[in-house]
Amino acid sequence: MRFMLAAAALCVLAVPTAAHAYCRTTTQQLPPDYRPTRGCFTDGLFLFWRNACVSYSVNAAGSRSIPYEEAKRVIDASFATWMYATCANGEAPGIAVTNLGPASCGEVRYNGDSPNQNVIVFRDDGWPYSDPNSTLGLTTVTFNADTGEIYDADMEINSSARNLSTSEEVPANGFDLASVITHEVGHFFGLAHATDARATMYASYKPGTKALRTLSPDDVAGLCSIYPNPALRIVSVEVSPSQTIVAESCDPNPRHGFTAACSVPKTEEKCAATPRPTASWAASGSVALALAGVLVARRRRTGTR
Ligand SMILES: [Zn+2]
Repeated sequence: MRFMLAAAALCVLAVPTAAHAYCRTTTQQLPPDYRPTRGCFTDGLFLFWRNACVSYSVNAAGSRSIPYEEAKRVIDASFATWMYATCANGEAPGIAVTNLGPASCGEVRYNGDSPNQNVIVFRDDGWPYSDPNSTLGLTTVTFNADTGEIYDADMEINSSARNLSTSEEVPANGFDLASVITHEVGHFFGLAHATDARATMYASYKPGTKALRTLSPDDVAGLCSIYPNPALRIVSVEVSPSQTIVAESCDPNPRHGFTAACSVPKTEEKCAATPRPTASWAASGSVALALAGVLVARRRRTGTR
């Protein structure tokens, strides 16, 4: 059976002549008919991590086809690809990332008043969303809806019915894990889909390729546009008239601390009446971004055109 990339075919001529092709994720849900090739969606507030340091954890189960250690190797390398980029000012991006070790939790969740982890988890037993055949990865980002500050980011990899590859050369029918992760890491940092098909942040992946492992200059410019140095974050003008806010000093622990488990029982608070949805949780939202490795079966045409 032959496959083709639906998204790749559509769009090459529609790339707008913007100065850049990267787009930032915002607090506003994308309209269902939005296509990045029309330009960035800019309603809402830009997302950003405030701390100079962030972290992730790979689910300890790995995948049936990719053991934990192998997954960790690829994931660490994919994050490093972004961290070792060089911004236009000659500096590294102003955010550092640490692997805090395996997580037993495999849930996409954010605990508004207890420790967390930013988990990367494989979905071996079916894709729990509506588009199992087209989606390769999904990053769900939880944020403060009043500021755009990211609180949590969890990444799911569709390993069900997928020939995920971790080898240097990707088989013709293989899906390169490093490509998928490198793309999703861009979402982790607050980038949305790029308007340029040459970018790693473009929304589709062609099986058998590894081009997404390598960042385009525009991908790097996107990361640097949010994190120009470890002390500053570039935010929406509604959040700060200067569009800059001071970053928090380096602490890679997730918000409310790190846990490898999904939650930490709060026995000491058993008796506390907590009628609040916490302020932070009440004001937060989440957005999920998929790498639509859009595969559409090419139907054989019968008859003449
Ligand atoms: Zn994506």
